[in-house]
Amino acid sequence: MTPITMEQTRKRAESDAKTFGYYLINDPQLLQGLLEGLKTNEERYSYPSCPCRLASGNLDLDRDIICPCDYRDPDVAQYGSCYCRLYVNKEVYEGKKELPSVPERRPIDKQAKAFQAASMPKQPQATQTKEETEEFVQIMPKLWYCKQCGYVVYREEPPYVCPICKAKREMFAEIKVKVEFTG
Ligand code: SF4
Repeated sequence: MTPITMEQTRKRAESDAKTFGYYLINDPQLLQGLLEGLKTNEERYSYPSCPCRLASGNLDLDRDIICPCDYRDPDVAQYGSCYCRLYVNKEVYEGKKELPSVPERRPIDKQAKAFQAASMPKQPQATQTKEETEEFVQIMPKLWYCKQCGYVVYREEPPYVCPICKAKREMFAEIKVKVEFTG
C-alpha cells in the first residue's frame, strides 16, 4: 500500500480545478469527505477512483472513473457540478446556484461489470501470511445506502457525509445483497 497524504490529494484536486476553470466545493465537511475518499481509493487501488462510485479494483474496468472521471466535464457543463460535487462551476461555488443533484452518467453496463468484478469472491493467495489473509477479509467492501436520499455507495465504511444530500454517516445503512453469477 502506497501512503498518500491528504495534502497531496488536496493539491492535485486544486491544481486540476484551476487548470480547467473549476472550483472545489465550497463546503469544508463535504470536501474533506470526498478528498478522504480519493485518498483511500488511491491507497487501495493505486489510482484515485471516484469516491462516490463503485470501483472494481481492475484498472481496465475503472479507467473511466479515475478522478477526474470521463463524466466530469459534461456534468459540470450541464449541471454545474460533477456527480460527487467535488468539482463545481463558479456559480455553484459562489452560492448563486443551489448544489444540483447530478444523475449518474456512467453507462449501466459499466456499473454492472464493476459490481460483478468487485463482488467476485477472491481467494487469499497461498503465499499470503495469516495476517495478510485476515486483513484481506477485513477490507471487503459493503454496499451502503443513505436513508435520507437513497444514494448508494460500495466501500468498507459508510461515507463521512452523503455527497448528494449531505446527511451524516449515521444516516447510512448497510444493504445485504445476494449476487448470483449465471455464466
Ligand atoms: S464525479 Fe467528481 S469526484 Fe467523482 S471521479 Fe468524477 S470528477 Fe472526481
